[in-house]
Amino acid sequence: MKICLIGLNLTNLILAKVLEEKKLYVDIYSNKKIQNIKTNRTIAISSENFDYLKSFTQSSIMSWKSKEIKIFTEDSKLHEIINFNKKNKEVFNLISYSKLNEIFLKKIKKSKYIKILNSDTCSPLILKKIKNYELVINSENKNFISNKFFTNKIKKNYRSRAYTFLINHRNKNNDLAIQVFTKFGPLAFLPLSNTKTSIVFSYKGRKIDDHKIINIFKKYNSFYSLTKIGKIEKFSLSFEMLRNYTHNNILAFGDLLHRIHPLAGQGFNMTIRDIKIISKILDNKISLGLLIDSSVAEDFQNSTKHLNYLYGKAIDAIYEFFRFDNNIKNSISKPMFKILNKNSLFKKYSNILSDKGLNL
Ligand SMILES: Cc1cc2nc3c(=O)[nH]c(=O)nc-3n(C[C@H](O)[C@H](O)[C@H](O)COP(=O)(O)OP(=O)(O)OC[C@H]3O[C@@H](n4cnc5c(N)ncnc54)[C@H](O)[C@@H]3O)c2cc1C
Repeated sequence: MKICLIGLNLTNLILAKVLEEKKLYVDIYSNKKIQNIKTNRTIAISSENFDYLKSFTQSSIMSWKSKEIKIFTEDSKLHEIINFNKKNKEVFNLISYSKLNEIFLKKIKKSKYIKILNSDTCSPLILKKIKNYELVINSENKNFISNKFFTNKIKKNYRSRAYTFLINHRNKNNDLAIQVFTKFGPLAFLPLSNTKTSIVFSYKGRKIDDHKIINIFKKYNSFYSLTKIGKIEKFSLSFEMLRNYTHNNILAFGDLLHRIHPLAGQGFNMTIRDIKIISKILDNKISLGLLIDSSVAEDFQNSTKHLNYLYGKAIDAIYEFFRFDNNIKNSISKPMFKILNKNSLFKKYSNILSDKGLNL
């Protein structure tokens, strides 16, 4: 029995590795037209998810560990309103997207269970190619299948753009991640080494040129002594939740299911948690000697859709809260976080939610 994965992206590389461990044969459909888009982007992976990824790669993934997160607001640029840390464990692992992709791609290419097939996934002919598989998992956001069967979504346009870039700076002990809820939108500093930090600035408003973004960024940067600013990459930001995860034997997956604001660094973490859930569903079917078919897709949808929606909405609520709070000069966040910062139960559950999500 073979499972078909559409899209040669990070989601499918990890998923293929998970399927290979179960001795399931996998065909991955790759599309030359969208292959190898280079990016300098960094992703933050929670400690539990990072341990999971490491278990497939014999610990070959190296990350920069962030031991604490501090949150600032426009009105409180020098003193954090709240901080999060864990006893003896990192809050986040910071790793380059390309590096992670490279590690998994290398593993996949060596596997006798996994075949990478080239195909134009945007052509209607793809339907013919996949018709003999019992289960197809589509993680590509834009291809023929996504455009035809997976367009019914709850959507919101943030009318914001994320500007991401790397900064080099003077050597410093760099294990603190920072988020500033500026009046322009959330600005994150994600440490990558003692001399390098990744910046994600979600700027709300009209398109502005890179030079202006850097000038605004510099006004908020009281943390690093800059030596170099790298090339800027841009992403339009939206909230998207797919209403129906399945179509016949096809399951939508990854960012196609849920696209959220990057302020909490949770988009890919949600996908890793989805991978863990589908893995358990497959283990269950295999142990009962059942067929790996569209019932896997149905079971997956039933176990995750409501929780993914709630989680995505919670991240959206954080975004809207700080946007509103900035409009009234942080007059809610100031007194509220004074209390919450001392509340160990609030901090404990915030840590659990960012690490494990709602699938407890
Ligand atoms: C600004 C920003 C910051 C973010 N930060 C975080 C974070 O800190 N933590 C977190 O958990 N999430 C974060 N996310 C979300 C996360 O980046 C996405 O969930 C993740 O990148 C999805 O990756 P993917 O490779 O699976 O998907 P895709 O984005 O679909 O694919 C990425 C690349 O894979 C290649 N590819 C795809 N399909 C094919 C194909 N058929 N053939 C060949 N090549 C293909 C292409 O090069 C494509 O560009 C962030 C998102 C944004 C926009």
